[in-house]
Amino acid sequence: MSRLMIIGCGGVASVAIHKCCQNSEVFDEIMIASRTVSKCDALKEKLKPVTRTKITTAQVDADNVEELTELIRSYAPDAVLNVALPYQDLTVMDACLAAGVHYIDTANYEAEDTDDPEWRKVYEERCRRLGFTALFDYSWQWAYEDRFKNAGLTALLGSGFDPGVTSVFTAYAQKHYFDEIHTIDILDCNGGDHGYPFATNFNPEINLREVSAPGSYWEDGKWVEIEPMSIKREYDFEGVGRKDMYLLHHEEIEALAKNIPGVRRIRFFMTFGQSYLTHMKCLENVGMLSTVPVDFQGQKIVPIQFLKELLPDPASLGPRTVGKTNIGCIFTGIKDGKEKSLYIYNVCDHQECYREVGSQAISYTTGVPAMIGAMLVVNGQWQKPGVFTTDEFDPDPYMEALNRWGLPWVVEENPVLVD
Ligand code: NDP
Repeated sequence: MSRLMIIGCGGVASVAIHKCCQNSEVFDEIMIASRTVSKCDALKEKLKPVTRTKITTAQVDADNVEELTELIRSYAPDAVLNVALPYQDLTVMDACLAAGVHYIDTANYEAEDTDDPEWRKVYEERCRRLGFTALFDYSWQWAYEDRFKNAGLTALLGSGFDPGVTSVFTAYAQKHYFDEIHTIDILDCNGGDHGYPFATNFNPEINLREVSAPGSYWEDGKWVEIEPMSIKREYDFEGVGRKDMYLLHHEEIEALAKNIPGVRRIRFFMTFGQSYLTHMKCLENVGMLSTVPVDFQGQKIVPIQFLKELLPDPASLGPRTVGKTNIGCIFTGIKDGKEKSLYIYNVCDHQECYREVGSQAISYTTGVPAMIGAMLVVNGQWQKPGVFTTDEFDPDPYMEALNRWGLPWVVEENPVLVD
């Protein structure tokens, strides 16, 4: 029996909340606290007739540490699940420390204003030292290690699908199938079709910032950075078929490079259709992906935030998206002196997700692991003082929970490898 505070009430949060409400034995009480309280109230009304979980709602600005700390103190949850935006990670972590509760999120910290000179100084130093230029990295949240450790609190970072499940797959492969993992290819395929010429499957601002940035991968102890979308491969995905995929920078590479002994190369690929890439390039060329505020008729606007207003709300894609996702990891390495390869993946159907929780598969594949991470923290199975990623705990209970809560996985020996 536990009490969870969930921050945010967007696409991913909605799935995590549905799943907590299906899992009333663990989550007998939840609070949905977000910027727009009417969305929280609407979801509460929808779920009330079908769950034993007691739901309360609250309005909160998660950028405001004092306001959030006060709310956490007054509700006194066992943990806070942060499914707002990566911009809020540090303020929510600060509030959790002040109120003395565990913390879980699904994506690592990003600065909203990447022109802030203080942030830029740290960022540029980090680019030089580590060799990749992505606007997000773990250093900001890993810097909380001592504070969480000293407070006896757990911070579980990145409990979505990727990052999240992909790192649990890695820990599982390491525990049960390999003596040493040498290469990891993380493949994220979305074979879904929503019928719009252009839309993003999760928050457009976060999504477009990620995919328009230079790609990078980890090889022989260092980062190799490449031009955006300049490494392309094709792969035949179970349940989806052949798709083009492109190498991107992704946050779990950073954690896995640190935590998987002997790993030589880690890459991340995501599938994109030609129409998506053409739209994105055009928007980028005209400056619509910029995060730098511009003056427009006496008002300051941030181009990418304005673009977000024009694009379809990812939460509205559910009813119209058909097809499947296939996300997983291909490993090569050594077991008992012999070379071996293994593929662990999940296939998820957009329409099945919609029928179950009213969301498409991208929100579903993130929201389910968010609930599972929160469950393992509150029930003590994944509790230890400090700041951790999902590869740093026993993967078995998480893998079992994926099967039980809607994301069953497949283990395939000798898969086709990516060259
Ligand atoms: P949405 O934009 O749909 O939802 C974000 C929610 O956060 C909204 O309800 C928004 O409120 C709320 N919010 C934003 N700012 C604040 C604030 N200052 N205070 C309180 N609430 C706030 O995003 P998604 O659901 O698509 O994404 C949620 C998270 O999941 C992101 O961090 C994203 O990066 C991550 N993610 C992780 C993935 C993974 O596999 N690991 C994959 C996909 C997403 P309002 O309703 O007022 O707008």
